[in-house]
Amino acid sequence: MEAWDVLVVGAGPAGSTVAHRLASAGHRVLVVEEHPKVGYPVQCAGLVSQRALDLAGAPGVVRTPVRGATVFGPSQGSVHFKAPDPRAFVIDRGALDVALADRAARAGAEFRTATQFQGRGASADGRSVVRLRGADRTEVEVAARLVVGADGVTSAVARAFRLRRPVEILPAFESEIPRSPGDPETVEVYLGRSIAPGLFGWWIPDGSGGARVGVAVDADGTPARIYYDRLVRYLERRFRTPLARPTALLVSGIPIGSVPRTHGPGVLLVGDAAAQVKPLSGGGIFTGMRCGEIAADVADAALRAGDLSAARLAEYDRRWRSEFGEEFRRALYLRRLFQRLDDPDLDRLIDALQGSELTATIVAFGDIDFPTHVARRLLRESPSLVRLLPKALGAWVVPGAYRAPELDFGRK
Ligand SMILES: Cc1cc2nc3c(=O)[nH]c(=O)nc-3n(C[C@H](O)[C@H](O)[C@H](O)COP(=O)(O)OP(=O)(O)OC[C@H]3O[C@@H](n4cnc5c(N)ncnc54)[C@H](O)[C@@H]3O)c2cc1C
Repeated sequence: MEAWDVLVVGAGPAGSTVAHRLASAGHRVLVVEEHPKVGYPVQCAGLVSQRALDLAGAPGVVRTPVRGATVFGPSQGSVHFKAPDPRAFVIDRGALDVALADRAARAGAEFRTATQFQGRGASADGRSVVRLRGADRTEVEVAARLVVGADGVTSAVARAFRLRRPVEILPAFESEIPRSPGDPETVEVYLGRSIAPGLFGWWIPDGSGGARVGVAVDADGTPARIYYDRLVRYLERRFRTPLARPTALLVSGIPIGSVPRTHGPGVLLVGDAAAQVKPLSGGGIFTGMRCGEIAADVADAALRAGDLSAARLAEYDRRWRSEFGEEFRRALYLRRLFQRLDDPDLDRLIDALQGSELTATIVAFGDIDFPTHVARRLLRESPSLVRLLPKALGAWVVPGAYRAPELDFGRK
């Protein structure tokens, strides 16, 4: 049986980041990816921060900088933000995944595509034995001292290692439109229960004259496609032109909430598999890569010490939660507040922002990786926003109305 130091399952941004760092440290790393080609099909809108680009070290994946954003309320009122410098970047997401995998392969990691993690066998000699199914549908067993589950929102590794308790998974639906009638440097966000209950719809210029348009919504049983169709009708009315036929459609899910433990004996979870996703936006590229770096550093030390026990690997949970736990906890709290607001409340929110100095605060302090910083500032500065709060806070005073926010997140 093949024996590896580390088996990474999933060649997304999180998995390839872990693989790069561990292979660079001299460990024997195998990465398996179920799709025939790394990075494809693309399942993402591809909007990232400068921090994410810095971590990836792949400036060539940028398609266009974003300097502005317009947020539309349910009654079509809007508020516009324009920054003097780029605040985000639209990337070629498939190319990012390829660049990260290439970097890991150059460091010595071996990649096998069209190879799916199937499950766990019995451990042997202190290594986990896992079953992999290759392109020819034959199953092989390989042994690894450490298994890293970087296999996304439906993580089979988490299930096999009994790591995950359910988190909220927001259904998402997105399409790529080849010709955009919108502003090529402005991202648009759509709020409202009829279009995107629980999160938002988006219109993101793709840097090649087209756009990515999509929705992510609360999981109330209604397919996200229904909301997407409504958003398209809304956009066609707004742009006064039919949208071009999509060149690609994607159906996926965004994990929101805390997974209580992202390590176990001989196993770590990273990225979407560990719900390392920003709860207010669903973005997970930056957080997944950064947590991938932390996972690799903890794993490197554990492999060298020959100790892959849960107690040793718990350091990973402690470290990534000390970096992101507070932000995620606050964001989950704000998300619960947001979910309590109905369409008239959202219109009032847009009204409160329109033409006010608060937009300058957002432009000055807005940070797509740490959005709660500016949210706290806005709540401090604006009485009209605070007036919306009593209703939102009802989430916690109406017994049983909502699950309590996971405020112990990260306090381990
Ligand atoms: C519609 C949509 C839009 C988004 N837009 C943005 C955005 O603009 N900005 C942002 O930052 N984030 C965005 N996200 C979130 C972002 O895409 C994820 O957070 C990010 O891809 C997570 O990276 P990852 O490496 O953890 O997982 P993934 O990128 O999901 O990679 C997991 C990999 O594992 C593979 N895999 C799964 N199961 C197996 C198995 N059993 N065996 C082998 N391989 C397996 C998959 O094929 C996949 O390649 C969006 C998500 C959605 C759904």
